[in-house]
Amino acid sequence: MPMYRSGRKTFNQVFLSLTRYATVGFSLALALAMNGCATVSHRQDKVAGFPLQTLSVKGKVYFPLVDVCSYLKIECDYDALGRQISLRKADTEVKLLLDSSMILVNGSALDIEEPVVLTENGVAAVPLQFKARVLDRFYCQLPLNEPQESVLPLRIRRVVVDAGHGGHDPGAIGRTGLREKDVNLDIAKRLSSLLRTRGIDVVMTRPIDTFISLEKRADIANRANADLFISVHSNSARTSGLNGFEVYYVSEKMNDVSRALAAAKTASLDFSPGSFYNSSLDLKVTLWDILYTQNRAESIVLAQNICQEANRGIGVKILGVKGARFSVLRGTRIPGVLVEVGFLSHPTEERRLRNGFYRQQVAEALCSGIINYGRQYDLASATYK
Ligand SMILES: [Zn+2]
Repeated sequence: MPMYRSGRKTFNQVFLSLTRYATVGFSLALALAMNGCATVSHRQDKVAGFPLQTLSVKGKVYFPLVDVCSYLKIECDYDALGRQISLRKADTEVKLLLDSSMILVNGSALDIEEPVVLTENGVAAVPLQFKARVLDRFYCQLPLNEPQESVLPLRIRRVVVDAGHGGHDPGAIGRTGLREKDVNLDIAKRLSSLLRTRGIDVVMTRPIDTFISLEKRADIANRANADLFISVHSNSARTSGLNGFEVYYVSEKMNDVSRALAAAKTASLDFSPGSFYNSSLDLKVTLWDILYTQNRAESIVLAQNICQEANRGIGVKILGVKGARFSVLRGTRIPGVLVEVGFLSHPTEERRLRNGFYRQQVAEALCSGIINYGRQYDLASATYK
């Protein structure tokens, strides 16, 4: 894996990250790295009730495709080699080519005047007219399965902060022995006190180093009557070259790979050295199974905000906001994200995560992301009253 400069993502990188996820099991149909770190304006529009965030690309109004597709339940595939994006829902298929304004709707060509672009942050974006010419005409009249009232960001009064792993489950272990459960707990505690100083109630799933089952964590989240859930994890990969920050939200569809992973989660967890990555993955799958929520649209907005703040606050490489299409076992009422704050398997990131000052910066970025998300609620509720 080549090292690349932070803040920029080439097609190659998008493809590489796709390949990486394919190899570790997250074969995301939505592998476009939508990290929300582009210059996003405050303008909002509505796509069937979804507060559409727009961005400016060379002076033109664009919007990121992935979150809208996700909201409208349009299947979205990215062919990195062909630089082609395919959208599918019911019997309508739309094909877009990066850097081209010509698109195909069920085989018929349509010119949307401005080209489809991949912004420098790796966000696939389409010009605003794509909404009227394609989404409104071909997709929006289709019934939405999600209740309309769940599409605005929520006012934040209480947050469940979940420190991943704990007790006999150390999570990932870095090369110099740094344990994920300790990093997660420290960041979770720092985040909790930052949120509390801003007047937000916090319920921690584990304030100490103890083992808590995933069912128990979900139970705490459900009973807390909270507005959102954030799970703090540190990443690990088999190769030491991978680094960066990523945020997962829950996507409703389960592909074959995640189905396999869901099946694998019933196998007993192996905590022997070298197995942590897989264990962590299994835990993640299970956690999302449990915490699947109707509020996916909010989760995406929350994830974008966190990502944006991480990029601004700690200058870490953003691997992006990713949907993980896990199965639905039980739901909670609240939006949730799982944050991977860095790779313990990467020597530099392990060193950084060892540093309390750095962990404080990470916690501040997470806190700012949550606060910004909450501000959008105020904006949105003012707009749509
Ligand atoms: Zn973990």
